[in-house]
Amino acid sequence: MQLLLKSVDFAARAHRDQRRKGPAEEPYINHPIEVSRLIVECEPHAGEDILCAAVLHDVIEDCGATRDEIAACFNEVIADIVLEVSDDKGLPRDERKAKQVENAPNLTPGAKLVRLADKVANVGAMLTDTPIGWDEKQILAYVDWAEAVVAPCREVSNGLSDRFDAIARDVRAFHDEKAVAGK
Ligand code: ZN
Repeated sequence: MQLLLKSVDFAARAHRDQRRKGPAEEPYINHPIEVSRLIVECEPHAGEDILCAAVLHDVIEDCGATRDEIAACFNEVIADIVLEVSDDKGLPRDERKAKQVENAPNLTPGAKLVRLADKVANVGAMLTDTPIGWDEKQILAYVDWAEAVVAPCREVSNGLSDRFDAIARDVRAFHDEKAVAGK
């Protein structure tokens, strides 16, 4: 519990100036907290390291934290999972997205759990807090991409896989209808 709260404290400070992309402009920290909550709800025995890694999953990618810093503040297991799920921001967006699909089968089980829960949260946001400026086509393409990333991660959690399928179905139904209505 102590380590988990330490990770929340670390991530909250690291993300302090960031907001989510939706109109609600939610504090960014709501997202990693949601990701770790999804994991503990679906996989109650996941363990503290994985929950901490979920809380910290965007601090390398978005805040410039390093793997060694996380290893020093937390432990090697957590640091490795966070590194595994971090995109290389030096690459163009399309290449980063292609790499996520390509690398998903090679992730360790802990990283697959974080990846899967991350996609449940992000696809869910397409319904509750759609990123500003995104059109229907972009949203539906995002769901397709997320599904491709999730495919090799499903084996680690039936519960999270089911949640992903339910939310992807809802997002597609909602935005398909909007796309049809807009024509
Ligand atoms: Zn995320």
